[in-house]
Amino acid sequence: MKPIYLDYAATTPAAAEVIAAMQPYFAENFGNASSLHDFGFRARQGIEGARRIIADFIGATADDIIFTGSGTESNNIAVQGCVFAAGRVPAHIIISAVEHSSVYSTCAFLESLGHELTVVPVDSCGMVDPGAIEAAIKDTTVLISVQYANNEIGTLQPIAQIGLIAEKHGIVFHTDAVQAFGKIPINVNEQKITLLSAAGHKFYGPKGTGLLYVNRHETTARLAARGIRTLPDTALEPLMYGGPQEAGLRPATENTPGIVGLGKAVELARDTMAGSAERERKLRDYAIGRLLSEIPGSALNGHRVERLPNNINIRFENVNAYELVLLLDRHGIACSSGAACSSQSAKPSRVLAAIGLTAQEVAESLRLTLGKYTEKEDIDYVIAKLSELITALKQV
Ligand SMILES: *Cc1c(COP(=O)(O)O)cnc(C)c1O
Repeated sequence: MKPIYLDYAATTPAAAEVIAAMQPYFAENFGNASSLHDFGFRARQGIEGARRIIADFIGATADDIIFTGSGTESNNIAVQGCVFAAGRVPAHIIISAVEHSSVYSTCAFLESLGHELTVVPVDSCGMVDPGAIEAAIKDTTVLISVQYANNEIGTLQPIAQIGLIAEKHGIVFHTDAVQAFGKIPINVNEQKITLLSAAGHKFYGPKGTGLLYVNRHETTARLAARGIRTLPDTALEPLMYGGPQEAGLRPATENTPGIVGLGKAVELARDTMAGSAERERKLRDYAIGRLLSEIPGSALNGHRVERLPNNINIRFENVNAYELVLLLDRHGIACSSGAACSSQSAKPSRVLAAIGLTAQEVAESLRLTLGKYTEKEDIDYVIAKLSELITALKQV
């Protein structure tokens, strides 16, 4: 029996096309993209080609795409970069209660420096109320950061509505789109997004690659309207200092193979995303329907409709999900209880607590995330195994 991978929200395998696109950039086109000779030129071409593909994909201009080393890094540059550009204490930040730790912990750090944080709660489906975001705005607010889609429960946020509010009040709006990017259509202009983070490995690109969209014009203008003068080129304050790469916002010799692979992953997403989402959404709903009707005491976490096409987060009454994950692994099924990065730790999920689950319910919650290699037979096998294991677990 081949193993069944249902943990695509944790990471995805790099697509064959991505690996093939990267290959020539390790040794053949190995030049430093800043060099003036032909070796450098070939590397530069690879990087700028990727930048254009990515910019087109989200309705941005190429100059506003910055390559980074991960989704975590993009989130840190966005949040810290905005607050440090503001250069005043306290600066006020607004986030939702279900942000990824790379936003949440960054804000906690900024709080420890004397900055102010408002964490806006979410409803029982995990959705934030744009009205509550607006109500939290103060004179000192420099940033609103709300994720596009949640990594644990898949809930999609009303990004365009929040974008309008941010625009109306002249506040920089960042979205952590790491889970949504490459899965659902995003347009930074229509949705009035000023800063956006994404990571290659969540959509069949290479690990250790990230991107940050920085609308430098809007960021500078909005901070200026609040009496803040920013650095002319970067708009945000860089977190590292060095060379002029990536407009000075992310100095270091570029990861050319990684960037080219990221560009290829975006190209694949551009061409196949609509079909994949449709297929995965059907499989997801088929699985949710069967699990809820066949396993007594089961309940869905998150929003029924406003949900990533590939996310299932479900709890089974009186079943410890951590034990279930280990048992499933022994049967060749890979999934997760809570987010991958926190499932090694004993800490209960902050996201599931934020939607109002009790500690017991949090411990009962299992995440299954589908991807382009998931087949209906896999789902049928997993449901059969789940029924069997849950019955056995409940008897002990
Ligand atoms: C995975 C993830 C991140 C972090 O991305 P890395 O590239 O792993 O650092 C940030 N936000 C969300 C919503 C994620 O799912």
